[in-house]
Formats: sequence, C-alpha cells, structure tokens
Amino acid sequence: MPHPAAEVVDVVVVGSGPVGSTFARIIGDARPGCRILVVDVGPRVPGVPGLHTQTMSPEERARARLLTQGAQSGVDQSEVRDPGEAAALDPVLDHDRLVRPGLFLLGEGAKVEGEFGLAAASMSSGIGGMGIHWSGSCPRPNGTERIPFIPAEEMDQAYDVADRLLSVDHDPAPGDDLLQRMRAALAAEFDADAPDASPVTMTPLAVVVDGNGPQVSGPSVILGDLAERVPGFALRPRTLARRVLIEDGAVHGVELECRDTGATYEVRCRHVVVAADALRTPQLLFASGVRPRTLGRYLNDHLKMTGTTTLSRAYTSDDRGRTPGRPIGVVLIPFSSRVREIQGQVHPAARSIWFSGADFAGLAFYGAKDLQFSDRVAFSGSRRDSFGMPAMTVRYTLTDRDRATIELLESTARRAAEALGGSSEDLTFAPGGSSLHYQGSTRMGATDDGESVCDSYGRVWGVDGLTVGGNNVIPTATAANPTITSVALAVRAATTIAGRLE
Ligand SMILES: Cc1cc2nc3c(=O)[nH]c(=O)nc-3n(C[C@H](O)[C@H](O)[C@H](O)COP(=O)(O)OP(=O)(O)OC[C@H]3O[C@@H](n4cnc5c(N)ncnc54)[C@H](O)[C@@H]3O)c2cc1C
Repeated sequence: MPHPAAEVVDVVVVGSGPVGSTFARIIGDARPGCRILVVDVGPRVPGVPGLHTQTMSPEERARARLLTQGAQSGVDQSEVRDPGEAAALDPVLDHDRLVRPGLFLLGEGAKVEGEFGLAAASMSSGIGGMGIHWSGSCPRPNGTERIPFIPAEEMDQAYDVADRLLSVDHDPAPGDDLLQRMRAALAAEFDADAPDASPVTMTPLAVVVDGNGPQVSGPSVILGDLAERVPGFALRPRTLARRVLIEDGAVHGVELECRDTGATYEVRCRHVVVAADALRTPQLLFASGVRPRTLGRYLNDHLKMTGTTTLSRAYTSDDRGRTPGRPIGVVLIPFSSRVREIQGQVHPAARSIWFSGADFAGLAFYGAKDLQFSDRVAFSGSRRDSFGMPAMTVRYTLTDRDRATIELLESTARRAAEALGGSSEDLTFAPGGSSLHYQGSTRMGATDDGESVCDSYGRVWGVDGLTVGGNNVIPTATAANPTITSVALAVRAATTIAGRLE
C-alpha cells in the first residue's frame, strides 16, 4: 500500500499495547475530529485488534503466539521449552521456562558475565503488544510504591478511569465461600504484621465475561468502538518507528519503515507518543538523538519467587474443571512500605482463570528492586538488533537489600502455604526479567534535575510534543503488577495532549 510522503496527522502513537491503546482512546474520545495514527512493528493477529489470545480458539491462539515473537516468529516455544499443554497455558506455574509462547527474548546483551542480568527479559510484537498475552492482575500500589509528586486524589481518579478502560473487577467472585475462607486464613496470618497497611484482599482482575465465562481483557477492550467513532483513527501493523523527527526542540514527525517492503517514509505531526515497552521506548529515543543522562537508567524488574502449594482439605474443591460459570479469584497480600516491600498472590487452581485442579494453589510473589542508577539498558551506536534498531546491553546487579528481599519472598511464600495447611516444595527464585514488569527506563520526575527523562505527564524534558508512556515511566520501587498504573498515567498524559489539540 503506498504511503504518501506528505501524510499528515495530529498524533502518532508508537506501540499498540495497553498503554498505546489508552493514549489513542483518551485522545479520540476527547477530540473525535482528530487524526491519530497508531503504528506497531508487529503484525495483526486473528480477531479484532488487540483481542486477548485467551479468548481465541486453540488453533488461533497458537497462530497468534507464533506471529508475535519478533525474530523468533514461527518457532513453537511451547514445544521447545515446555512439553505440557497445561503448563503452556499457565503463566503462574511456568517458572522454569525463560521464554513464553508469544514472546521473544532480548537474547545476547541481556546478561553481562558476572552480573545478575535480565536473562529472561522478553518482548512481544503484535497488535495489542504484551496485552494479548498478559494475565490481567491489576492491584493498585500502596505506600512508597505510589508516585509522591502526583496528588493522590488526582492519581486515584486516573486509576478509576483505567479500571473502566480495562474492565477491572475488584472482587470478581463476591461471596464465594472457598475464596473468602482462603482470604480470611491469609489475613489472619499477615494483617497483624502491618496494621496500618492495606489488608489481605482479592486481586482486582481485568476481565470481561462472555459465553465461555470470564476472559482477560486488554487492548481490544480499551479501544472498544474507537475506529467507528473517530474517522481519523488508524492502526498500522508491521510498521517500525525508526526515528522521531525533532527540530529546534520540537517534534515535527516520525520516520517509519514498512516491514513488508522495507520502504521508509515520513509522517508529519506535532505530537508523538512512544509507548513501545520499557526496553524499546528508550531505544527509540536513543535512535532519535534524545539521550538525556537518565535514559535507560534505573531499569528495574520485580524480584520473583514462584511455586505451588498443596492445600489442606479445608481449601480443596470438587470443582475441578474450567467451566464457564465457575467463580475466579486470586488472593492478594499487598505491599507494605514498613514491613513488607513485596506483594504476594495466591492462585487457587479451583478458582483460576488459567488452569484446572482442586487441591493446589499457585504462588507468585514479587519483590521491589533496590533502585540503582547503574542498572540500565544501554544502546549501541553501531550494532543493530533484529529490527535494525540500536542493539541493547543490560547492566544489572543485585544489592544486599535485594538479597534480603529475596529471603523475605521465600519466607513469606512459605508462611502463605502453611497458613493454608499446605507446604511448598518447589519455590524457585526466577531469573532476572521473568516478571515481565520492567520499569523505570524513562522515569518521570518532579523537576528536570538530571534524574528523570520526563515530567509527570510523560512529556520528555526539553522536546516539545514528545511524550513517553508505559512501565518505563514509573519512578518508584514497586512490587505491584504495573500495567494498571501505566494505563492510569497514560490517561493523565493523553488528557494533556488532547487539551493541546484544536
Ligand atoms: C504472560 C504475561 C503475563 C502478564 N501478566 C501481567 C499482569 O497480570 N499484570 C500486569 O500488570 N502486567 C502483566 N504483564 C505485563 C503487561 O503485559 C505489560 O505491563 C503491558 O503489556 C505493557 O503495556 P505497553 O503498552 O506499555 O507495552 P507492550 O504491551 O509491550 O506493547 C508495546 C508495543 O510496542 C511495539 N513496538 C516496540 N518498538 C516499536 C517501534 N520502534 N515501532 C513500532 N512499534 C514498536 C511492540 O511491537 C509492542 O507491540 C504480563 C505480561 C505477560 C507476557
């Protein structure tokens, strides 16, 4: 398809994951007359744009996963890495595997000899980004996880909008006896540790219910009927953003590459949003000559401990299969700034959206990384990755504080198992990058003091019209799954861009 060199739009959004989709939706809702071009280097997959793979037939899901694996596109990673179909469907229990179906590893450069590194760092490239593969846990952060320079009330309003966009249900199975008893047992074990912290509760989940029961929501739900209501909205797959074009400190367009023909062309615009994940957002800034001191720095990933626990008979269920009407739920042990800089999730198999079983629960515990300037993704001026973009090298080490957090993850997971009358024999500390929650690499700050890349609206310091979004803008050390925060921050940022459009 020919792309005229003189194509002009109001806003280009790079990346069609949950965050890029939120920018498009919020700007389109506020300015239905404007032209919004969303580009993604990955292809379209079966179904409506951004549909979660869980809602697809098994054949379509397998196809979608093969399509979104970047340079490893077409390689069946479930067969390569994990023979069990149940485990292949199960993001909670696959802790031994470095790469999951639908994703591709950063690979060479992910780990430097002698450092902890991020060997399991993965990305996804397809319409919908990682948001067509994710699990949908959407807990709000607590205490020091929250961003201190955004007024709490304003952030809570943004979270409310984010919850609506992603169809987040804060208690997907109210009154379910099994879940309530498990929650009560874990509350009895943990709430006294941190009386002023958020109590043990249910994990808010991004779900929509269809004829097959609850399904994880994602970019297709965020976008909704935007394409019908905003005639100037376009979603262009297999389109790589090579460079943001900047002159005299202001954006005037982007250089794009059609992945089918290799042809490059320019699109003119005054606003560019880069929401291309926490590794590739700083990569595109680097490729565009935007290289502030903190670019790629303070990279962090949740320390992750996973396993399973047996359950005492009090918490087992006859309800073994994944039937459409079956309740779902995950118990949440929230982060506490004072006593527990970790978050725990207990997934009873009998109430899981992902897997079947009656007498065990999955354990997924995340710890906040000790943030360091030296933890970074760096980019090469000469070497290229498989997309022809600057090659990445991750420099990443653990501190004594991290090692204490890892011990706390293990002891807390064991306490959780024991509180449910079980034991966990298979707790495993996952390789760096396994949480898939990379953060901080274009962090926001209250002022342009050399410690941040953008302001609290994602506006890159010193470049008018350039906004960044995604987990990469989160500046705090967190243990909560980050997507709901990134979507909430995108709501604020997109509202600001819409305000500047005539
Ligand atoms: C199995 C799994 C389970 C998960 N579970 C959870 C969970 O329960 N809760 C949670 O909070 N998070 C979870 N996550 C993480 C979550 O999916 C991400 O936080 C979220 O998708 C980030 O959204 P994003 O839009 O910023 O980036 P992404 O979804 O990664 O999308 C970025 C897009 O940008 C595109 N792109 C990159 N560079 C370019 C370029 N130069 N030009 C054009 N396009 C480009 C990519 O192709 C990609 O499609 C999970 C992830 C996985 C894989």
